[in-house]
Amino acid sequence: MIKPRTTLVLYIIVLIQVYLFLPWKGIFFILITTLFLAHLVYCSADICSQVYLKTLCKAKTNKKQIAITFDDGPDSKITPEVLNILNDFNVKASFFCIGKHIDENKELLKLIDKNGHLIGNHTWSHDRWFDLFSATKMKAEIEKTNGLIFETINKETKLFRPPYGVTNPSLKKATKDSNFHNIGWSVRSLDTVNSAEKTFERIKKKLSSGDIILFHDNREHIIEILKLFLAYSKKEGFEIVRIDELLNIKAYD
Ligand SMILES: [Zn+2]
Repeated sequence: MIKPRTTLVLYIIVLIQVYLFLPWKGIFFILITTLFLAHLVYCSADICSQVYLKTLCKAKTNKKQIAITFDDGPDSKITPEVLNILNDFNVKASFFCIGKHIDENKELLKLIDKNGHLIGNHTWSHDRWFDLFSATKMKAEIEKTNGLIFETINKETKLFRPPYGVTNPSLKKATKDSNFHNIGWSVRSLDTVNSAEKTFERIKKKLSSGDIILFHDNREHIIEILKLFLAYSKKEGFEIVRIDELLNIKAYD
């Protein structure tokens, strides 16, 4: 992936060439500017672009292993139901929790941990404008969340996932001194927008060894999705493991 700074230099060089030598300057100018802006948007919006943040999105493995992750909890109503289903299928997962939700559900966080699942940092507020925050403000949110996770389960998590999967120069700056493993995904289930059946069909189509699947444990129909998905993966012989095992990394300090 070409870095934005490199593309900026290329952009300026091409613009000079266009200005000096080419007819139809206006059309070329619009075309090149559009391509440049599209590249910048892609770099930020794709959590696996590796431009601003080194992220782990899929494991290279020849074992038939996958990992499942849940974002945006803990949710007092849905998360306990998710834990029950995971227990029924004897599956361990990873939960990327929002600090302010942990603050309201500390016992639930302890329960997630006690059940053998991993806990990661998903910022304090998960604000809709988080991507526009300054690096200092982002860092403060991430540190506050790690502090609360430590206070609650006595573990310093090394797992971080940016809200909405968006990465940018501020987030790069905010996380540069930390030793987080930035965790992305290779299968976005789109469980927040699609029906249970449609979500399941989408995952089924994409699923392959080494995948990290993104779910959310704050929507009612995740229960139905999990029932379908866990039964399917079992039938197909996929082993669901925690991301520390799948990626061979340390989840806690
Ligand atoms: Zn999220």
